[in-house]
Amino acid sequence: MTAFNPVTPALLDQLAQIVGAGGISTAQADLDLHAKDQSQHAAHPAEVVIWPSSAQQVADVLKLANTHAIPVTPWGVGTGLEGNSIPLYGGILLSFERMNQIVEVHADDFQVTVQPGIGHKDLNAALARYGLFFPPDPGANASVGGMLANNAAGIRTVKYGASKDNVLKMQVALADGRLIHVGSRSVKQSAGYDLLHLFVGSEGTLGVITEATLKLVPVPQHMSAVVAGFPSIQSAVETVVAVRGSGLDPAALELVDAAHARMLNSVDGVDLPETPVLFMEFHAAQESGLAAGLEMVQQICEEMGATSFKSTTDTAERKRLWHARHHSYEIMVRMHPDKTFFINDVAVPISAYPELIAYVEQLRDTRGITCYMIGHAGDGNIHVEFPYADEAGHALAMEINGLIVMKALELGGTCTGEHGVGIGKAKYLPAEHGEGLDVMRTIKQALDPNGILNPGKVLVEA
Ligand SMILES: Cc1cc2nc3c(=O)[nH]c(=O)nc-3n(C[C@H](O)[C@H](O)[C@H](O)COP(=O)(O)OP(=O)(O)OC[C@H]3O[C@@H](n4cnc5c(N)ncnc54)[C@H](O)[C@@H]3O)c2cc1C
Repeated sequence: MTAFNPVTPALLDQLAQIVGAGGISTAQADLDLHAKDQSQHAAHPAEVVIWPSSAQQVADVLKLANTHAIPVTPWGVGTGLEGNSIPLYGGILLSFERMNQIVEVHADDFQVTVQPGIGHKDLNAALARYGLFFPPDPGANASVGGMLANNAAGIRTVKYGASKDNVLKMQVALADGRLIHVGSRSVKQSAGYDLLHLFVGSEGTLGVITEATLKLVPVPQHMSAVVAGFPSIQSAVETVVAVRGSGLDPAALELVDAAHARMLNSVDGVDLPETPVLFMEFHAAQESGLAAGLEMVQQICEEMGATSFKSTTDTAERKRLWHARHHSYEIMVRMHPDKTFFINDVAVPISAYPELIAYVEQLRDTRGITCYMIGHAGDGNIHVEFPYADEAGHALAMEINGLIVMKALELGGTCTGEHGVGIGKAKYLPAEHGEGLDVMRTIKQALDPNGILNPGKVLVEA
């Protein structure tokens, strides 16, 4: 990696000429606000925060930074869980908080073109009048740029796909200041190498997304919710496989373990069975479609030994049933005011999910560790959440995390289903990708030969 240079007063002047005096700050408060995401990784400040207001400004900042070997770290809204946007090497923090506009709604094509800083919840609120929505749904109000850069997924991925499945075209600023477009607004695309999906999931290490055209889907007319309790976590996860195998098409299929369910019940109005629980949601164009599906899912749950089953098609009741799952992270943090959390993230093929969960249970019981399991079970994705109070607790959580990652890889899975590599998962990439990692290094070298883009993430020196 190139040795980086400090941001000098002369360079600050040149940056201010690009973005204007109001688009740049070296104030300690601004540096501190952008020094850490929502992960357990330590804060590290940039030397300057820049708020560009156009793609051309982004490209000009990159060109200048590249010439002077200054690191640049893109920042959406900092909800990442792997330190993805922490400016580890200082330099420029490029915040997209002010590039947050809808550029154009192509309602007849079920598409929207946006600037990268728009929050996906804000986007969906604006799209409601068209009866359309952008389905990937990480819990937080993440920016579209941050979601595409991390290939974020979430609760509805089981039906609608991850961020990568819901983007058609992007404008990207390269390290040398070129602005290119990748992909097209055609849903079918077969023209040359798939650069669109090279940049998606690259965590700001290959280029900076300055605009994106997203796929939208009609807001479903009818929705139902199911909350089912099971005598053991194994029967719950085997039900996940059975539901997926039945041909039912859940829009969400989430697992919460008994310890987590007990914790959620401490909130007023939440009344979950204190057993492993599956949350499900189904979407349909016609109400009759929902009724038949609910009957079938109830039958499957009962055959798999469910000890409780609640379903509803009423909107208020559905929202009430889902409330606890949607707010589980905040509830968990509130319940442990003296603890820090590490959230693990691995995914496996669905048939291997029961074995992965059994392995986590075995680790928890034999190592006597406190942890909670919550997962996008329909995608084979699990998050094991470890509260810890001190360095020893952190070290133990890291050790158990490593064992879970290696088990996921052994089962044909991945070290991260949705949070990305960031800082914490980089050490597992050789085990997951083997020589493929050399190809990734070649691509990085071709696009960012000076290594200025988000250094210290994804590909770290061995
Ligand atoms: C309570 C909670 C629940 C969550 N649940 C989920 C979940 O269910 N699924 C899930 O996938 N994630 C989840 N996350 C993680 C997080 O929301 C996602 O990783 C999200 O994609 C981060 O978006 P952001 O805008 O906050 O980006 P940031 O954290 O600011 O940045 C993320 C990465 O994107 C890069 N980046 C940002 N903007 C750009 C750009 N314009 N061009 C290039 N690179 C860019 C950054 O450099 C960094 O590498 C959760 C987080 C929290 C706090």
